[in-house]
Amino acid sequence: MTKILDGLPASEGIAFGSVRVLDWSIPHVPRRVLAPDQVEGEVERFHEARRDVSEHLNRIRQEAAERLGEMEARIFDPQLLMLEDIEVVDDTVRYITEHHLSAAQAFHWRMLELQQQWRTTANPMVLDRLNDVEDLQVRLLHKLLGLPVPHVWEEEDGGPIIIVGRNLTPSLTIQMDPDRVVGLATDLGTRTSHWAILARSLGIPAVVGLVKASRTVAGAEEAIVDGRIGRLIVDPDPRDRNVYEDRKVRLQGWEEELAQISRLDAITLDGHPVALRANLDLPGEAVKASEHGAEGVGLFRTEFLVVGRRAMPGEAEQYEAYRHLAESFPNQAVVIRTFDLGGDKFPMFLNMPAEENPFLGWRAIRVCLDELDLFRPQLRAILRATAHGDIRILLPLVNDVEEVVRVRELLGEEEAKLKADGIPFSSAYKLGILVETPAAALDAAELARHSDFFSIGTNDLVQYTLAVDRTNAKLADLYNPFHPAVVRQLHQVARVARAAGIEVSVCGEMAANPLGAFLLVGLDIRALSVAWPTLPEVKKVIRSFRAEDARTAARKALAAPTSSDVTHCLVEGLGSAVDLSAFSGRWSLSLPS
Ligand code: PEP
Ligand code: MG
Repeated sequence: MTKILDGLPASEGIAFGSVRVLDWSIPHVPRRVLAPDQVEGEVERFHEARRDVSEHLNRIRQEAAERLGEMEARIFDPQLLMLEDIEVVDDTVRYITEHHLSAAQAFHWRMLELQQQWRTTANPMVLDRLNDVEDLQVRLLHKLLGLPVPHVWEEEDGGPIIIVGRNLTPSLTIQMDPDRVVGLATDLGTRTSHWAILARSLGIPAVVGLVKASRTVAGAEEAIVDGRIGRLIVDPDPRDRNVYEDRKVRLQGWEEELAQISRLDAITLDGHPVALRANLDLPGEAVKASEHGAEGVGLFRTEFLVVGRRAMPGEAEQYEAYRHLAESFPNQAVVIRTFDLGGDKFPMFLNMPAEENPFLGWRAIRVCLDELDLFRPQLRAILRATAHGDIRILLPLVNDVEEVVRVRELLGEEEAKLKADGIPFSSAYKLGILVETPAAALDAAELARHSDFFSIGTNDLVQYTLAVDRTNAKLADLYNPFHPAVVRQLHQVARVARAAGIEVSVCGEMAANPLGAFLLVGLDIRALSVAWPTLPEVKKVIRSFRAEDARTAARKALAAPTSSDVTHCLVEGLGSAVDLSAFSGRWSLSLPS
């Protein structure tokens, strides 16, 4: 019988495959007390195992650098450093020498202690670190106990497989061959987990937050991963299979037509062009985005240069990343969002306080304006990149005009310093804000006087408008971008931007949803930015309707009393131009039956 498990989307795409349950667990560590003359040898064995694991991880890191880029490879640095950390090494050695524990037991105990210390916080960055620690435990303990390290996807030749596990780790993910491992599904994890970042870079569809998927599957069943809506379907019935197969065939067709589609304009049937740009998390994704036909970058999430790192990337490193983007998209907009740290993205080095409500806490522009040592080098690096293209600066989570004014002051100061140092930049850059709180949407007219452009962040706008945590899989059905309160804010912001003569775009996931794109174009929003793998699909959708019909549907949607009425107006307006069946069943398209 079909089992449908809903979690959260973490990496785009649809995958069919045979389930393999990942057994990446900490092995049983037997109790063993050493004789005094064994102590020295055991310490040496620990160091040897540590060196072996370090060499192995360095090879994996090297592979990551070759496959994805140096920036992506840095995700492994904290794990490598942990193997040298005195807190880990010295105390393990002390347990061996003072308590005569075996190396395996001493290391295991020390790791449990550290995990216990860190576990007191719900901070997702720390949870990721715990996950890194667990990965080390699995590797090192297998080595010390003489057990083979499990490797589920190399066990046999054969068809495509979907890995289902409690959680994954960067070192496991990077070793996956996307031709063989076609989908990932985990009980834990978030979109910002380090391994999920790598899955996106590798183009492997992934779903996280499935709670008990690893206990629900037996292994070897057929399954479908839908990384668009965050769903795992185990043993799909013929209907589900057909729906997804159809969609996959279409997506594959588009992949094959990619070169052709990427050259086509994103333009509605009645001739209204839409600037269709890409959302990027890492600079290495620029090539793919360009191949998929992106007309520039609508959102570069710079905080991914920081997450998983032990130290802040310096100005020079950031400059190289921003410049790379500018050079990858000559004569096209490259929108660089300043660090959106906090919420679900915490760097280890900032010592961010544990907060009751991180999404309502010290986040985004609030952090940057308080931590000028972090913010000024970023502004300088972005300014320097303006010499190489149409760089636009985007400020996240702005509520107040004062925040924009303060950033302009800081930019002015940094420009003066660059000038004095003789470092080239262009002062023709634009400074805009992410409209992602109801406060910003309601106060858009005032903010427009101080902004060169607006980008609407519907991912956060929906969460803050509806008071629904975007990372809570349990609330996924309530997280509805077609709620009338959201639609009215979109309308209001678009109207204000038009009146002020500034560009308004949307860079939240809503823009990648066929009904979302239809509604946004109907609200006269003519720039959309979406995750790069969805570009061809969204472009097809845009090319399949008339902007005039979208306007009519948007007008009706604005008068609709409920979310399902909004959806209904849009489905009706879009007509049969786009097959929506594969999107049904979640908020993403609560299709009227
Ligand atoms: C948004 O909030 O819609 C957005 C694009 O930013 P992020 O998803 O990174 O918060
Ligand atoms: Mg946001």
